[in-house]
Amino acid sequence: MQSSLTREKGTYKMNIDGQGPITAEQLRCAHKNFGANVNVQRLTEDRTGNVTAFLLEIVVTCAECGLPFHFKGLPCGMDLNGAMVSANALEGRFAIAPGIGGIIERIEAAKLTKTRN
Ligand SMILES: [Zn+2]
Repeated sequence: MQSSLTREKGTYKMNIDGQGPITAEQLRCAHKNFGANVNVQRLTEDRTGNVTAFLLEIVVTCAECGLPFHFKGLPCGMDLNGAMVSANALEGRFAIAPGIGGIIERIEAAKLTKTRN
């Protein structure tokens, strides 16, 4: 993905991924309907083929005018144990894993540890 911001005649024009500057239609759009392109990466070790991580990549666009949305509040890069965004913040990248997670996963793990002791 590539985007650029240029200044022309005192105003700024944003060019997103070769789509050209934001159009007047996109500026007027209320952005009421959305589309999302979701991709799940299954990362494996080269030699063994063992799965090392899963990564969810999401791009959100307005279904009416096509303007992409950017993710807010996340650092730029890739983290296989967290959430980050691409350099232009248009792609959210989230580490995922099969099964339940969060506090329920920690409670279940604590129960298993307790029964072993
Ligand atoms: Zn829109």
